[in-house]
Amino acid sequence: MSLPTALLVITAALSAMMLAIVWSLRRCGLPGVRDWCNANLMVTVALVLFALRGNISDILSVVAANTALGWAVALFYAGCVRFCGGQPRWGRLAAGTLATMAVVTIWRYVYDVYTTRVVAVSVLHAVLCALTGITLIRRRPRGRAGNHHLTTAGFALFFATGHAVRGLLSAFSLLGNPYVLQSMGLNSLFLTLGALVMPALSMGAVLMIHDTMVRRLQAIANTDGLTGVLSRKAWEDVAQREIAQAARGKPAPALLIIDIDRFKTVNDTYGHAAGDAVLQAFAGLAGTLVRATDGVGRLGGEEFAVLLPATTAAEAQQLAERIRAGAEQHPVPLAHSGATVRYTISGGVACLRPGESLAQLSVRADAALYRAKLEGRNRILAHDDGQPDTAAAPREVLPA
Ligand code: GH3
Ligand code: MG
Ligand code: MG
Repeated sequence: MSLPTALLVITAALSAMMLAIVWSLRRCGLPGVRDWCNANLMVTVALVLFALRGNISDILSVVAANTALGWAVALFYAGCVRFCGGQPRWGRLAAGTLATMAVVTIWRYVYDVYTTRVVAVSVLHAVLCALTGITLIRRRPRGRAGNHHLTTAGFALFFATGHAVRGLLSAFSLLGNPYVLQSMGLNSLFLTLGALVMPALSMGAVLMIHDTMVRRLQAIANTDGLTGVLSRKAWEDVAQREIAQAARGKPAPALLIIDIDRFKTVNDTYGHAAGDAVLQAFAGLAGTLVRATDGVGRLGGEEFAVLLPATTAAEAQQLAERIRAGAEQHPVPLAHSGATVRYTISGGVACLRPGESLAQLSVRADAALYRAKLEGRNRILAHDDGQPDTAAAPREVLPA
């Protein structure tokens, strides 16, 4: 078996393996993954046809094989466009591939010049790889989320350069026929590089898919599904981090715990969906009133917590008062019934003491909230150092 044939067989096997990996990820529902599967399938078919050169008709081993390979790279590029939220221009991709196929056919059956075929195919591949790289760079997500896009773009641009150089060398007749022993050197290099294109690009695609899925799952786990604020677990992580920083000398944070008043009555009067609408409206309102650095989380039911970094109890009480007034002044319109739900909130504030844990801070903020409920609701109270903590008292015993 000649070296080019051996390389083709190895690449076909590699592409089949990458196909299995990308195929296993197609159910993730991300756009573009199907195109990447089809790209690997196409490459595998193309490489098998190339490897059979001499044993089957050139229509299959030259024309069909080159068309399939070109279309495979076009499919990979289309997958990247879709993955990044765009729409591939199928007409242009098909036209480019068909034009290359026409050149390959003419320069096989009319003139039979190998180098012209290489130039045409190299131009197509160089353009498609360059477009892939540019798309991934321009449409990558900002920050660290874009790292795998950059890696894949790096591969694509590297291969674009390789194809461009191969095309140029062929155009100046510096690259012989790879099936002739004397011209194996450079050809082997380019064939080896070419063998890596689809497996390397597909590996980049797999990295991008994994990264996107992990981020999606993290977002789901960290976000409260109904209100869009932090989930309890995510909020506790944020609060723990802030408290750890305070222990290292950063100004102490304050904690505000908010509970919507007589929420059960809202549900009983207007229905559960109306209760949900109130929860969403309140979360939205709180989000607009706090600072960007303040972490708003839903502790459960109609209870929310806000961790206010580097904030005194007085400042926290002022902010909480703004939220309370906002809730009172913004009744929630119900789309389906036309009714409007008025609601109020109560809140308890406590500022972190040296050496205190999140649990201890929460107990004091909860105690202040409990007093706010006892004193008539629709008010914000700060934890009073002079008074014993009463948070342990169960909520159920509150007067209605
Ligand atoms: P208080 O002023 O003392 O806080 O009285 P309350 O009625 O607000 O408190 P209670 O604990 O008696 O009732 C809370 C209600 O919140 C009961 C529960 O059905 C309702 N609830 C909890 N989670 C949700 C939710 O996700 N959506 C809706 N619509 N209701 C919820
Ligand atoms: Mg309540
Ligand atoms: Mg409650």
